[in-house]
Amino acid sequence: MTIHKKMKLVAHPFRPAYTSSQMATEVELAVSRIASVNPATGEVLGELDSAGPAEVRAAVARSRASQPDWNAWGIRNRIRVLRRFQQILLAHKTDIARRITQEAGKPLVEALVTEVLVVLDAARFLIDNAFEILREEKLPHGNPALKTKSGRILHEPYGVVGIISPWNYPFSIPATEALAALVAGNAVVLKPSELTPLIALELQVLLREAGVPDDVFQVLPGEGETGAALVRSEIDKLVFTGSVGTGRRIAQIAAERLLPLVLELGGKDAMLVLEDADVDVASSGAVWGAFVNAGQTCLSVERCYVHRSLYRAFVDACCEKARKLRVGNGMDPATEIGPMIHERQVRVVESQVEDARQRGASVLAGGTRLRELGPTFFAPTVLADVDQNMRVMQEETFGPVLPIAPFADDAEAVRLANDSDYGLAASVWTRDRARGERLARQIDAGTVMVNDVVSCFTISEAPHGGVKSSGLGRTHGRWGLEEMVRVKYLDSDRVPRMKKIWWFGYGGGFAGEMEGFLDLLYGRPLREKLKAGVRSAGALWRRKL
Ligand code: NAD
Repeated sequence: MTIHKKMKLVAHPFRPAYTSSQMATEVELAVSRIASVNPATGEVLGELDSAGPAEVRAAVARSRASQPDWNAWGIRNRIRVLRRFQQILLAHKTDIARRITQEAGKPLVEALVTEVLVVLDAARFLIDNAFEILREEKLPHGNPALKTKSGRILHEPYGVVGIISPWNYPFSIPATEALAALVAGNAVVLKPSELTPLIALELQVLLREAGVPDDVFQVLPGEGETGAALVRSEIDKLVFTGSVGTGRRIAQIAAERLLPLVLELGGKDAMLVLEDADVDVASSGAVWGAFVNAGQTCLSVERCYVHRSLYRAFVDACCEKARKLRVGNGMDPATEIGPMIHERQVRVVESQVEDARQRGASVLAGGTRLRELGPTFFAPTVLADVDQNMRVMQEETFGPVLPIAPFADDAEAVRLANDSDYGLAASVWTRDRARGERLARQIDAGTVMVNDVVSCFTISEAPHGGVKSSGLGRTHGRWGLEEMVRVKYLDSDRVPRMKKIWWFGYGGGFAGEMEGFLDLLYGRPLREKLKAGVRSAGALWRRKL
């Protein structure tokens, strides 16, 4: 959030050194300040200058200048840097987790498991696999007419990759994306959320300590305007994670110059509980999946559909479990649910719960703020008797709310799950795995889990991303790494002194010879092929221009 506008650069411990006095003059024209605030206590953790358009352009130019050397250094050296990064992060895991909890509010254990562990494991995946995935490959081909050619696939870095990230996983999202971009030989300019800039700067410190040159990874704090300036800058690819609205705006700007994009956007993930599911297990999964990180998880359970035969028992179990959850400051080891990031986000949740209540939903647990804890705390909320038209079933809630609706059979469950503009993830709960997997195939989503939720994000091999309004492209795993490179086909002819059959000098019987050639390649039976071979042979001796 902007706390005041100022006209002059103010030194702060995180400000990168700018050498160009001309740049400094441009920056001085309009610099705003952002404040990082602990959402549990309201304490101001730090204040930073936002990077203005000139700083963004300058940072991208520095990254561009430094990237060729970083790329030329070679993937094995970059993997060594990742290994050092992993060990430094491991040594500082508790400090980093504490910083995440202070800045984003989540319980310390979640900071360790859903942030630090995810990044350690992403580094492990890249250390083990990046070389194999990105190495040059031979590309054998089956076109007999072009047999003199040997083909190879090269994976070349884009150059400068811009990353714009949200506040809800302020460390694991930008770090996993940045590690993949860096190991592939790109330089990275990161614009973190204005609500969580300090943890992004910690990431910068860790990467520099590990050996990433200053200009190869840069963090530019700021609000949406800084992000917009990054989109308009001379970056070569953008990886954006955030809301659908911002994603669409960015895509429009990117379209003007065909900037390649990965868009990791919102979700409205459905959980389907079939009649043979274990109510105790599935209700625990629903409560965790809906309330982890106070529901501010792109993969969180946002809609729960339960077979009629289990509905009441399931709703009762969820209410009982929700009421037992301990809400408080994430630094307290007993806390299971921390604050929401901002009072603004609480108001979104309140208005959706109110809409549902007015349209006939029953609020069976929670439903209100916990003002005694502070303005950003909202009680874990269970809604029953909801219907598909309520806002809470259509719009992303991004808060600790679990709306539960009944269904009659598998077909209806799948129809309800797919009745959404979003398609990030979903889950199916059943004792019969084969049946669960059958339903999973019918759900329009980037990921479908059977008998678990959210945890797919910690499997570094697994691709992460959505369909429909949930986004484009993938992060994580082989697919996330491949997003960071351009594929180049290198085609090398083994007979450089030979004119090619298909070059100019057409005429005569060439068209007939080519007809014969097509029959030779794709015709059957063998007798016809042989005849066609004879018909086409003249093309070999044809005079070419
Ligand atoms: P947001 O869209 O408000 O902001 C995301 C980032 O974009 C921030 O850094 C912000 O400063 C920047 N930004 C804002 N306006 C911009 C503009 N015009 N141009 C360029 N950048 C701009 O989202 P948020 O509130 O930070 O995050 C919550 C959203 O992110 C939710 O919808 C959630 O589902 C989604 N999300 C998706 C994933 C995923 O992997 N699919 C992961 C986490 C969060």
